[in-house]
Amino acid sequence: MANQMANQEFLGVKAERNAVVRQRVPVGQLGDGTPVTLPVIVIGGKDDGPTIYLQSGIHGDEVTGIEVLRGILTQVNPSELRGTIVAVPTANPPAFISKTRGFSLEERGPFDMNRVFPGSAHGVLSERIAHALFHEFVMKADFTVDFHSALAGCNIYPFIYVDPDDNESGTLDVRVSMARAFGTELVYHKKRGSKLGTSVMTGALSTQGDLHKKPVLMAELGEAQRITWDMVGRSVDGGLNMLRELGMLAGKPVATKEPLRNVTSGLPAMIPPAPKSSALPNAARRLVNRSRPTSLY
Ligand SMILES: [Zn+2]
Repeated sequence: MANQMANQEFLGVKAERNAVVRQRVPVGQLGDGTPVTLPVIVIGGKDDGPTIYLQSGIHGDEVTGIEVLRGILTQVNPSELRGTIVAVPTANPPAFISKTRGFSLEERGPFDMNRVFPGSAHGVLSERIAHALFHEFVMKADFTVDFHSALAGCNIYPFIYVDPDDNESGTLDVRVSMARAFGTELVYHKKRGSKLGTSVMTGALSTQGDLHKKPVLMAELGEAQRITWDMVGRSVDGGLNMLRELGMLAGKPVATKEPLRNVTSGLPAMIPPAPKSSALPNAARRLVNRSRPTSLY
């Protein structure tokens, strides 16, 4: 998984060695012609190595995941990085603005964007954005992590999906090792083809990634609509552990305090975590003071 950084580009944004590049790239337009742009951040390491794609906000109201991704990026120094991190922190900008799961004014919508992958270059706006995310980022990366939060009004105990939990694509080992490196207590081994409640998951990013032999993990943590700070610091640490697991940062993943439990059937319950604000890790405390979801781009 060692890509050469030269000539790497994502939706036209070029990776630069030992540098951070931030750009907003047009990806469509609203009904009145207002341009819609995706925020793209590319951190080019000092040395060649794997390429990881980090995504959040595909559901526009899931701000806890957005803050986790933001926190990971602020902790990475390009001079200490091997390979390339490419990130889209607000992957569904129209829905982010209205703080809704899907774009509320979508033609024939709203759509759940995580049900329309791999998208369509000639579809409605949500499908066009999904098409760009899939082909310009997921397909160009060695590994993808997609950060989510609970449905609006709920809180969700952090877990990560291994979806599907088989090795038809030949990527199971790296998906399992990366899920463990992230360090949630719960890892949900999801059977191929299983529904999420009544929702058919054929168009989910993890499903389509797997069909294209691209390993994708989906992390679920905290609340939508507002940032669940108790989960941010630990999840940022988990993201950095995944970079260590891929050899992109020096050192081994740091062991978490609690052991992993594997969930093999059913959905993890939406359990309200015990509030532990006073025990926030240092990383989270630093982030609390400068939370600006759009400050990176
Ligand atoms: Zn989501």
